[in-house]
Amino acid sequence: MKNHYLLSRLLVSTIVLTVFVFPIYAGAVIKMQVTVDATEMPKKLLHSKISLNLSGDSTSLLYPKWIPGIHAPKGPIENLGGFEVEDRSGKPVRWERDWAELYRFFVFTDKAEKQYDVSMTYICNQQSVNSSGIDSYGTADLGIISWNTNVVYPEGIPVRDIMVDLKLILPKGWDFGSALPFDKKQGDTIFFKTVTLEELIDMPLIAAEYFRTVKIASTDLADYYIHLAAHDESSLDVNDSIFAPLENLVKEGELLFSRTHFKSYHFLLVLSDQINGLGVEHRNSSLNNDAADGLKKLEKKNTSLSALLAHEFPHAWCGKYRRPAGMDTPDFISNKNTDLLWFYEGLDQYIGNVLEARSGLGTEEYFKEDVASAIEYLKNRKGRSWRSLRDTQVSSYLLRQSSASWTTLRRNQDYYDEGAMIWMEFDARIRNATNGEKSLDDFCAVIFGSGDPDALTNPITLDEIISTLSSFADEPWEELINERVNNPHDDLNLQVLDKIGYAISTTDKKSDQLKYSENRYKFKNFYEALGFSIRDNGTVYDIVIGSLADKAGLYSGVEIIGVNGKKFSLEQLEKAVKNSTEKGKITLLFALDDNLKEVVIEYNKGLQYFTIVPVEGKPDRLKEIIAPRAEKE
Ligand SMILES: [Zn+2]
Repeated sequence: MKNHYLLSRLLVSTIVLTVFVFPIYAGAVIKMQVTVDATEMPKKLLHSKISLNLSGDSTSLLYPKWIPGIHAPKGPIENLGGFEVEDRSGKPVRWERDWAELYRFFVFTDKAEKQYDVSMTYICNQQSVNSSGIDSYGTADLGIISWNTNVVYPEGIPVRDIMVDLKLILPKGWDFGSALPFDKKQGDTIFFKTVTLEELIDMPLIAAEYFRTVKIASTDLADYYIHLAAHDESSLDVNDSIFAPLENLVKEGELLFSRTHFKSYHFLLVLSDQINGLGVEHRNSSLNNDAADGLKKLEKKNTSLSALLAHEFPHAWCGKYRRPAGMDTPDFISNKNTDLLWFYEGLDQYIGNVLEARSGLGTEEYFKEDVASAIEYLKNRKGRSWRSLRDTQVSSYLLRQSSASWTTLRRNQDYYDEGAMIWMEFDARIRNATNGEKSLDDFCAVIFGSGDPDALTNPITLDEIISTLSSFADEPWEELINERVNNPHDDLNLQVLDKIGYAISTTDKKSDQLKYSENRYKFKNFYEALGFSIRDNGTVYDIVIGSLADKAGLYSGVEIIGVNGKKFSLEQLEKAVKNSTEKGKITLLFALDDNLKEVVIEYNKGLQYFTIVPVEGKPDRLKEIIAPRAEKE
């Protein structure tokens, strides 16, 4: 298939056709020697040399495009600062880019020559919104290397059959951490064990002048490490007791998944205010980033870091080892079918939240508030009437960090939260059908404990999901999945609440979860009171269709500049909503492009927040779900 594709590209291009002999893959394993020179990382440059044999007559090289983890064909090729090919005598070799596939380089090889060197330079720190987490980053004293930024590979050979001998040269005195096994370290040069290209790209590396590795647990199944890279000593200066909840996390994970497919797991954690918001899962590691003081805050529970680590860790099973079959492609250029993201991300989101609570990284109250927050958000996505959850999956990368305007109509990557709610409903259905004897934990033990643990992936299909669910409870799983995932709806299905024994309610008390989110993301939530959320600069972020705010003419993106005759601030607006119980109205002044408009909203209920409450007489499944297992077993 691929060769035909390449042919059609060439027939319509202007370059000389005759020099190309299309690769015929006959199951041969090939080897590449890769040297990555990171000594200029403080200058944001990462150099590499790839030595490879093009004896298979392969004349096109591919830059990794579809990198697992970000669900998007967004390999950061735009950041290349050098791409040169030479033969072994040092003679430059001409190359041209495929005009129709910008990740493909045609190299004009000579039949007499077999061996070539490709020299590449990658410009780090470009923070492309769509490739965050698969970029490489360099600072004066710290770096992240995502190997996909610095390699190309011959087309037509599965990346599982391309063996890579890797050598890395670090800036002087930097230490490093990675799941990548290595043979030896000589000075600042590290010689790694041979891995496949697929494995290499699955195992990023962090390095820094200030570096620490802590073994957080050692069980019968595996050893667990956290590698910490920071800009100074103070970020790393924590009491070891801070790692106790992480030990709980990995042990709760083992209990849930019933086994590991790895002998060691590595949390890579970059503590930096200069690098923002990374979190990418891998088969036996995860790349995480939080603020310089992030580790110290971990003991406060329910922090951004606890949520991040608890989300990325179970991905080792959910999404990486058990990967949707449509996403298990032989290379990094074939399109991936992201149809099962409600499993990959939705189930992982659910498991992550559950493990966060079970391990003590989070609290029960916060878990409950987070469920309420997710439901409140999802029930206001009016875009669900035209776009199914499935559509947010297959067009996932179109939704990632795109326009913030009218997200209620456009929807977001809702398969995370809505997927999590589906799995919570399924969990409760199994518990209810079996009087609490079985649960989604049993489903996880079967799904994630099957197959050859030494295989890199064990692809999963919808049929296997349905048949495994059916083995635990006689519910109309296929129908439920079809209904929840594939169909557009006017309203969010709230059966999950009924099944866990809860109902929706309102309160005038703001939850800790909301206080935390408002503080972190600098906004305020008035969904339940007036029908909108707003940023600290006065811009209305999200609007509830049909709400008082919608009827008053506010919309996503409009700027509020005055509240009850005073200059706008989030605090002023919150005060006005609170005082509405006495005044019976709120006056808002906002800018409609160049025009100012004042509206009076009749409202007297004060501050109102969405919440969920247990229904008396029904089993509290939510409480059962997050009860730690490690203590009992
Ligand atoms: Zn995820």
